[in-house]
Amino acid sequence: MTYASHDRSRILAKTLALLGPLWPDAKALLNYNTCFELLCSVVLSAQCTDEQVNRVTPALFERWPDAPSMAEAEIPELEAAIRSIGFWKTKARHLRESAAILVESHGGQVPASMEELLILPGVGRKTANLVLSSCFGQPGIIVDTHVLRVSRRLGIAEKADPALVEKIIADNVERANWTRLSHAINRHGKFVCRARKPECPTCPLAGFCPRIGLEGEG
Ligand code: SF4
Repeated sequence: MTYASHDRSRILAKTLALLGPLWPDAKALLNYNTCFELLCSVVLSAQCTDEQVNRVTPALFERWPDAPSMAEAEIPELEAAIRSIGFWKTKARHLRESAAILVESHGGQVPASMEELLILPGVGRKTANLVLSSCFGQPGIIVDTHVLRVSRRLGIAEKADPALVEKIIADNVERANWTRLSHAINRHGKFVCRARKPECPTCPLAGFCPRIGLEGEG
């Protein structure tokens, strides 16, 4: 079962109204001091937890604090610095290649447009939206694994497809609320509507959630 399209805006509005106040200051859980650090951290966080990334980034950014230094990094050294992270070989290459593009095309700075961010290796729409919203204050729909799961269970999207969920939220939620809703659903998925053993009995959304995919559970 999924909601008809005309119901989605109502469900999303209720979700924001209930979850927004619970997570008023929610933002990226990755630790960073600059846009460059955030960009690198989000690239590292693919298929990996924020906590794992936060453990390696202090030493990583002490050694390579900006795009010019990262662009010159020796790949074996970069790999060694992030070896505890999944897909470290690919991610080391992505970090250095992205840094080189930032140096060549953007004066070493992180660009403030979706189009330019998507050119960087390892950067998809989730990463770009998180960087644009966190660093530049632009509205961003950040569809991570938690937002995907909660959207599916709430019946907002028929399938766990990031592009579909982003479009549905974009079509049904005011731009000004995109970032706040994304972070609120992220926290809800991380701490309440978890992948395993979600806390349905005490969930604030239980009154209208169809719990799709959880029949017999929760
Ligand atoms: S009722 Fe259960 S499935 Fe629905 S949002 Fe809450 S925790 Fe998730």
